[in-house]
Amino acid sequence: ARVDNPYAGAKPYVNPEWSAKAAAEPGGSAVADQPTGVWLDRIAAIEGVGDSMGLRDHLDEAVEQGAGVIQLVIYNLPGRDCAALASNGELGPTAIGRYQTDYIDPIAAILADPAYANLRIVTTVEIDSLPNLVTNTGSRPTATPECDVMKANGNYIKGVGYALRELGAVPNVYNYVDAGHHGWIGWEDNFAASAQVMYEAATTEGGSVDNVHGFVTNTANYSALKENNFTIDDTVGGRSVRESTWVDWNRSVDELSFAQSFRGQLVSTGFRSDIGMLIDTSRNGWGGSERPAGPGPTTDVNTYVEGGRYDRRLHMGNWCNQSGAGLGERPTASPEAGIDAYVWIKPPGESDGASKTFPNDEGKGFDRMCDPTYEGNPRNGFNPSGALPDAPISGKWFSAQFQELLKNAHPSL
Ligand code: BGC
Repeated sequence: ARVDNPYAGAKPYVNPEWSAKAAAEPGGSAVADQPTGVWLDRIAAIEGVGDSMGLRDHLDEAVEQGAGVIQLVIYNLPGRDCAALASNGELGPTAIGRYQTDYIDPIAAILADPAYANLRIVTTVEIDSLPNLVTNTGSRPTATPECDVMKANGNYIKGVGYALRELGAVPNVYNYVDAGHHGWIGWEDNFAASAQVMYEAATTEGGSVDNVHGFVTNTANYSALKENNFTIDDTVGGRSVRESTWVDWNRSVDELSFAQSFRGQLVSTGFRSDIGMLIDTSRNGWGGSERPAGPGPTTDVNTYVEGGRYDRRLHMGNWCNQSGAGLGERPTASPEAGIDAYVWIKPPGESDGASKTFPNDEGKGFDRMCDPTYEGNPRNGFNPSGALPDAPISGKWFSAQFQELLKNAHPSL
């Protein structure tokens, strides 16, 4: 039987490949023993790309380490990353059959090997996919043709549903569905609608909410965990912080409050009342010398929020290699009510996307949100991208970013 929280009392698996890259960086040994997500980001990752470790290698190594919990990322949907280009994948929009037989089935077969029965296997399922169906389709100004296609053909819903059913059939697998982050589905229009789409995916084709152990927020994103210098209930001169340019009517000001309130929404939508949340704190520390020491001046609601916020992005819709970011809370089990763990799903130091075009055989495109000279689009309110220069394609080691993450870590190292 599954335990309530797979992280509780379990030693987490340290990915030796990430660990070696971190340890090779000046100062990196301070974090090289932290557990990070193992991304199965293409079919070849199951066997191992080139001479890198495949899924069995990681599981064997986890047993070797005496680990109790390992974290896998299921990330290869047809038409992947429909609102952006940097993490487009190898499967075209209609390739649901290959997703099932060549990707999910082999993963499920390996996970079911009795050799791994004593590991708690956490799977975070299909980052950014379902929220894109809600916010980037139809008549929304943020819609993209690619997301409209994935909504119309149903292959995100089918794919996520299939993954949850097949992986959920393995008794020691703990599925956590991706739930975006507060700066995405924290708005009124998106909040209940996203929970509904997640419910639809979980229950499609005979699936059950029993295959969903919880949800993960902020994966590979930068939203601050706790904005201590203001809350959603604060007012300045009679105006709510929700009216500030930064908060812009969101229902949450940070990731912890969002994860807790979205958990409530998911339960009321039909998910189990014992679901737990994970929050990716790999890169949301926003420490360093620029971190505000206290609230902003109460001249007006904007000076108050601008002066106090830790998250120093130019806009909450910015997501690529953000300048000024730092490592966040170290991975921790049961940190707050409703939260199973703070996790490092995005391995710090791995790029979000290239700052210019690089030919590659992974299907990855060039997204100008990763170009520091880009002036933006409707999804980031036409703000500059805030991305660091000279980045390699997504998933590749980006030393300059890793150095900045160390420097701006909060808690500091
Ligand atoms: C990339 C993946 C990579 C992951 C972790 C994603 O943005 O598309 O290829 O494995 O980040 O770095």
